Amino acid sequence: MDILWTPWRYSYVTTADGKVRAGVPSSLAAWPGDTGCVFCNLLTSIDFAIAHGMNPEEAEAAGGLVLRGRDCFVCLNAFPYTSGHLMAMPYAHLDRLAALPSEAAHELMDLAQQSERVLERLYRPHGLNFGMNLGQAAGAGVAGHLHLHALPRWTGDTSFMTTVAETRVLPEDLGTTWKRMREAFAELKS
Ligand SMILES: [Zn+2]
Repeated sequence: MDILWTPWRYSYVTTADGKVRAGVPSSLAAWPGDTGCVFCNLLTSIDFAIAHGMNPEEAEAAGGLVLRGRDCFVCLNAFPYTSGHLMAMPYAHLDRLAALPSEAAHELMDLAQQSERVLERLYRPHGLNFGMNLGQAAGAGVAGHLHLHALPRWTGDTSFMTTVAETRVLPEDLGTTWKRMREAFAELKS
């Protein structure tokens, strides 16, 4: 499926030998490592940038990291199905929900509730999808690191562009989405 207008597609950077370090935003490419996991790469490159003097807001914006909890965090999906497509997940590289300590599992659900409130407020959707694919056979794109998808849906949002042209039009760029999300999550706490 083709996706129109994707300025963030270049956020996947390659090393000198051409190896793809998936999940490392181009502006955070100073981190030299590769965990082999998109989400661990994302987190580690953000933390590396902050540890080396980058403004935390700037580093987290570059990585689409919206909210840090104690055991879990919320970030934007770099390849959203719809505007406002969030993911909540543990920092720990775990592939099963049952492997999460119960406090982390509870925090994940708390972040899901916050995500629901934020998505309702910002996007006024007709409905929402919350879901988790555990394992490749279940459709997980990143099977090693469990993540809960949260996305707003509208009646007809998979309309003729998808069914006819196999193309999605994404009306909001990720930088804008991040800023709106960041503010909305902060407002929930105040
Ligand atoms: Zn991971």
